[in-house]
Amino acid sequence: MHSCVCHFFVVTLQPQIKNKDMFSERDTKGPSLRKGSIEVVCGSMFSGKTEELIRRMKRAKFAKLRVEIYKPAIDVRYSDEDVVSHDRNVIQSTPVDSSQNILLMVDDIDVVGIDEAQFFDMGIVDVCKQLADRGIRVICAGLDMDFKGVPFGPMPALMAIADDVYKTHAICVHCGDLAYVSHRLVASDKRVLLGETDSYEPLCRECYNKAIAAEEGK
Ligand code: ZN
Repeated sequence: MHSCVCHFFVVTLQPQIKNKDMFSERDTKGPSLRKGSIEVVCGSMFSGKTEELIRRMKRAKFAKLRVEIYKPAIDVRYSDEDVVSHDRNVIQSTPVDSSQNILLMVDDIDVVGIDEAQFFDMGIVDVCKQLADRGIRVICAGLDMDFKGVPFGPMPALMAIADDVYKTHAICVHCGDLAYVSHRLVASDKRVLLGETDSYEPLCRECYNKAIAAEEGK
């Protein structure tokens, strides 16, 4: 009798356990069934945000949804046509000059991915809202902060209007804790400096503050 009661509780409680990282691809194909939403994946450099975007896009593709990734034309690190993360995990993408252009390209798309969202103009915020209102699932990936720890471009506004925000973390290369920010290793005050592999290191808050204090003390 006792075990039956326990079993009853297990069965009834299970549906209430919601895994934050789990998104269903079910019932989202076709204009009448699909519901729009906005997800933001953000973190410092080397935190795996593009990998997470690609993972979600691949799952949607397995579910036979039509997917497309857009990225700002400024991001020409390795390739014009592919979203390439640091581990060279490739998925086809389209470079666009202005956020508004995305609205003209998504007629047949169920899931829109946006990579390097921090480099887009502020118009991207309204574009994402319009896409979600049309029933499209939007997944934005980008840097949450610049090398000074300042919120980057449209990212704060995207995080505010998102249904779900997921922070990815690199590892602090000084102490092994979770990294918080991308520390710039070269002397430049420009906000955008591409070719980042040897120009930045991920640091936790404490190691970042120490590094900045040491630089200012020089
Ligand atoms: Zn550290």
